[in-house]
Amino acid sequence: MPVRVIRAGYGAPNDQALFPDPHALDAAAGLPAAASALKGRQLVVLTGAGVSTDSGIPDYRGPEAKPRTPMTYQEFMGSERMRRHYWARNQFGWHFVANAEPSGAHIALAELERRGIVRGIITQNIDRLHQKAGSIDVLDLHGTHQRVICTRCGTRIPRHIVSDRLDALNPGFYDDVATRHDIEYAPDADATIEHTEHFEIYDCPVCQEGILKPDVVFFGENAPAERVRYAKLLVDRAQALLVAGTSLTVNSGKRYVRRAVTNGMPVVIVNHGVTGSDHLATVKVDAFVGDFLQSLTEELLHDLD
Ligand SMILES: [Zn+2]
Repeated sequence: MPVRVIRAGYGAPNDQALFPDPHALDAAAGLPAAASALKGRQLVVLTGAGVSTDSGIPDYRGPEAKPRTPMTYQEFMGSERMRRHYWARNQFGWHFVANAEPSGAHIALAELERRGIVRGIITQNIDRLHQKAGSIDVLDLHGTHQRVICTRCGTRIPRHIVSDRLDALNPGFYDDVATRHDIEYAPDADATIEHTEHFEIYDCPVCQEGILKPDVVFFGENAPAERVRYAKLLVDRAQALLVAGTSLTVNSGKRYVRRAVTNGMPVVIVNHGVTGSDHLATVKVDAFVGDFLQSLTEELLHDLD
């Protein structure tokens, strides 16, 4: 079945200044267009930070995002000072993410999987909220905050065990309110690292010398090859691609859009703001992802009943 491009003619793919995207359909016009492109097809869904913002997890690339420079893989592995800083901050961050609850977007996608419409989710998020919402076939493309990995021997350790050990090694560290504020709110910068250079960290308890790293893909690091292969398989066995809540600024997400287009599958992109693959979309909708996915789910399930 030929794929009809409903909106096209985009400008520079990386023009991140455009919020909302003036070329996209709004939620009202986008709903029937998206439903029409997807109905009767089995879907693979690619999700990003935008599906978790309603769960209180900030989107560092979204329209309201504060400028932020994430620590790269090279900085983390190359400097013990940076690792101390990372773990000191992450002791706050991971608890926050671990306690987050699924949003309407996660719940809608889990329902679509139960009803046989969604066949798999590829997520760039590390928060495990799709699984918490009940989705089963989920690929954590960029890993998860719930595990720590030894970069030498590959041993994986649950994050809460590492957390307990770090707390034991650093009694009273967070009692200083000034420290807490610096760590919690400041971007990664030398000024805040001063407060964390005495934070005690430890090496792999199994091989005794490997550097422990959260089992997440850092900037400057690639997703493991087997995960990329599985993601491609998920795309290939589906009949349409729904992209939700990602600006597709990195190649790790764009490649699946290209693959879907090559396969002749319709691609629906729902995001607040422009994305790096809008020019390839069958339908592009500029909307808040949570509300839109809930409406789209009702529409697709209505057609099923
Ligand atoms: Zn090890």
